[in-house]
Amino acid sequence: MSKSPEQEHPIKAFGWAARDSSGVLSPFQFSRRATGDEDVKFKVLYCGVCHSDLHCVKNEWGISNYPLLPGHEVAGEVTEVGSKVTKFKVGDRVGVGCIVGGCHSCENCNNDLENYCPQSVQTYNSIHFDGTMTYGGYSDIMVAHQRYIVRMPENMPLDAGAPLLCAGITVYSPLKYYGLCNPGMHLGVVGLGGLGHVAVKFGKAFGMKVTVISTSPNKKQEAIERLGADAFLVSVDQEQMQAATGTMDGIIDTVSAEHALAPLIGLVKTHGKIVCVGAPEIPPQLPVFPLLMGRKMVGGSLIGGMKETQEMIDFAAKHGITADIEVIPMDYINTAMDRLVKADVKYRFVIDIANSLTQA
Ligand code: NAP
Ligand code: ZN
Repeated sequence: MSKSPEQEHPIKAFGWAARDSSGVLSPFQFSRRATGDEDVKFKVLYCGVCHSDLHCVKNEWGISNYPLLPGHEVAGEVTEVGSKVTKFKVGDRVGVGCIVGGCHSCENCNNDLENYCPQSVQTYNSIHFDGTMTYGGYSDIMVAHQRYIVRMPENMPLDAGAPLLCAGITVYSPLKYYGLCNPGMHLGVVGLGGLGHVAVKFGKAFGMKVTVISTSPNKKQEAIERLGADAFLVSVDQEQMQAATGTMDGIIDTVSAEHALAPLIGLVKTHGKIVCVGAPEIPPQLPVFPLLMGRKMVGGSLIGGMKETQEMIDFAAKHGITADIEVIPMDYINTAMDRLVKADVKYRFVIDIANSLTQA
């Protein structure tokens, strides 16, 4: 008979998990593996709440395994390192993002693209190489192979820095890869949520003109005054959208729900690029004619490799980029999820794990 999550491993752990697709999270006892030679163990201090956590707890992608313990924007302090760990020591400030394993021998891994390794192991809702389920950062401790540990720079706060481990790299990597990172270019950011608001910040740090395309007119003032966007389009306002036709070099689409691509394709210039990073349950239709009429392209991107994740967080620290966060206690998570559905957060919930995750 298979062991219970509480008995699988020697280290007792505690967090909040969903038991079924109602998506309601509640306290959950489980266990973590003992720190292996190449492992880093850390005390979780903060964990961001990504919309992917919400998709997963509600099984919107149809791939959820329960109990499902989410969280892949995990920051904390090292408490133990394995004998072969050279880069980290007890007391270091570190983080873990969306992946905790890969084959380390395929072409993708060899090219620092562990995120595209066919055997990559997700931080939660994945079967690890030992056959046990991975559990995420809504929990007291994490253990991961050193390759997947990110060093948090000294001047990077752990609460507002944690969301960069998913939201940050998810927008940074495609902006670099698709060449949407040059001064003077015009970038459109669709959806001003967790991913979108850091995309605005990276876009500005790269020296671009940034226009937000949003369904929420009430985010306009902040987008411009606080986040530094140059312009703001309300996507349902035909006149505004029409006036911006053919003005952008590229667009990063972070929308989490069903929406149309056609209006976005209209916004980019000839050779313009639309990069989809949002992962809605119902994917958008791809209208081909508007693409042909300007040799435009639509691409995708999934988080980033570990080398690039470290590069991103170092870049963010250098440019003073952090997420705008609302810090919440663990027992607020179900309300936070309800608010996330309504795009009612400016702009990332971060759970104060150390001060609010208590065993009953
Ligand atoms: P989020 O904080 O909820 O932001 C999503 C934003 O999309 C909302 O703030 C809202 O912005 C807009 N939006 C929501 N519903 C909409 C609708 N019906 N029509 C148009 N716009 C709508 O979510 P997030 O954490 O940034 O994640 C965004 C998406 O990216 C999710 O699907 C997530 O799973 C995915 N994701 C992908 C990767 C990857 O590697 N590719 C990594 C992380 C997350 P406005 O109010 O401005 O309209
Ligand atoms: Zn995420």
